[in-house]
Amino acid sequence: MKEILLIKYGEIILKGLNRRRFEDLLIGNIKRALPKGSWANVRTSQAITYVEPADGANVDEMTACLQKVFGIVFIARAGVFPKDMDAILRDGAEYLAPTMESLSTFKVEAKRSDKKFPFDSPAISREMGGAVLRRCRHLKVNVTKPDTIVRVEIRDNEAYVYADAARVSGPGGMPTGSNGRATLLLSGGIDSPVAGYMMAKRGVELNAVHFASPPYTSERAKEKVVELGRILAGYTGKYSLYVVPFTEQQLAIRDNCPEEHLTLIMRRMMMMIAARLAKKSGSLALITGESVGQVASQTIHALAVTDEAAGDVPVFRPLIGMDKDEIVTLARKIGTFETSILPYEDCCTVFVPKHPTTKPTMAKVLQSQSRLDMEYWVNKAVEETEWIVIE
Ligand code: ATP
Ligand code: MG
Repeated sequence: MKEILLIKYGEIILKGLNRRRFEDLLIGNIKRALPKGSWANVRTSQAITYVEPADGANVDEMTACLQKVFGIVFIARAGVFPKDMDAILRDGAEYLAPTMESLSTFKVEAKRSDKKFPFDSPAISREMGGAVLRRCRHLKVNVTKPDTIVRVEIRDNEAYVYADAARVSGPGGMPTGSNGRATLLLSGGIDSPVAGYMMAKRGVELNAVHFASPPYTSERAKEKVVELGRILAGYTGKYSLYVVPFTEQQLAIRDNCPEEHLTLIMRRMMMMIAARLAKKSGSLALITGESVGQVASQTIHALAVTDEAAGDVPVFRPLIGMDKDEIVTLARKIGTFETSILPYEDCCTVFVPKHPTTKPTMAKVLQSQSRLDMEYWVNKAVEETEWIVIE
């Protein structure tokens, strides 16, 4: 039994010249996301992308991969039949039967792009309705509010039959690569992977920066971040992770700055280093997992002071208005939560002041960091950065 996957994608930027670019990107991303050798052909026609599996391919596995490709709204699995009315009716009804078992009502919608096919759309719908009723005796037709719509498409070389009830949803959003590249500050926590996901969903290609402070942070903490990176790569395809050795910088901050501003100055240095790495890698913005008020370093006063350090590189914070439980729900949905809660330390939790300021001013923070040669420490970090490909 031959099957094909019909993919419906988002329509937001389908207007004008963008449409072709959007479709080409999506096709490329689909091919990359599918297991090697699993597809025979991927093409788009009239706002549907058709993925033809190779002989013997595992279509369940292919569908699961496609559910992570941004831009896809849903995936329908259809039976492929020769353009012979008897075959379409008999084998089509048989193919639909397992899906229809748990349903009570349906209607048929037929589409004929081959106008030479000897039956017109209303006739195909009528005949198919009859065939389904004969095969699945428990069903009734309901044209106003059916449990599912059975679709028959007569194409140039073959016919497709499927039921909407058998569709699965994709992640929505826009194809990766349709909206430039941004650099995610990836910790081992719950929030930053979700922030990366949200931006990636809008078509933003990612790379990532992680700050590690060995021996205060362990090799296992780093492996955890790499694992989170891999889960994200399941949605975005492969990307680069920059691991920044940050121990000396943190010690220098601790030894030269007033305690109340330690975290903020550290966050500022992270922003400066990340902005430098972003520019070096053709990235247009930074992404963090901060949300207003979550901790002392995330009051809007603190965020303003942190932002200043990123200079002319914009900082995107897609979680800014979300509650922790909303973020956790998303983390579970995208599959990062279980890894995020593994109990390894983060460089941000190494030298935490007992009494951090929650309303810092730029002037005071600049005063506090005046004994520190920021430029020296930023350059050193960038030079010593290690580069890992995540896939
Ligand atoms: P998360 O759950 O993402 O760790 P958080 O609520 O614990 O966030 P912070 O630890 O203050 O908050 O970090 C705020 C943001 O700074 C993170 O969301 C992340 O984008 C970035 N960040 C924190 N620690 C690191 C790190 N070690 N490497 C890279 N980025 C980091
Ligand atoms: Mg954290």
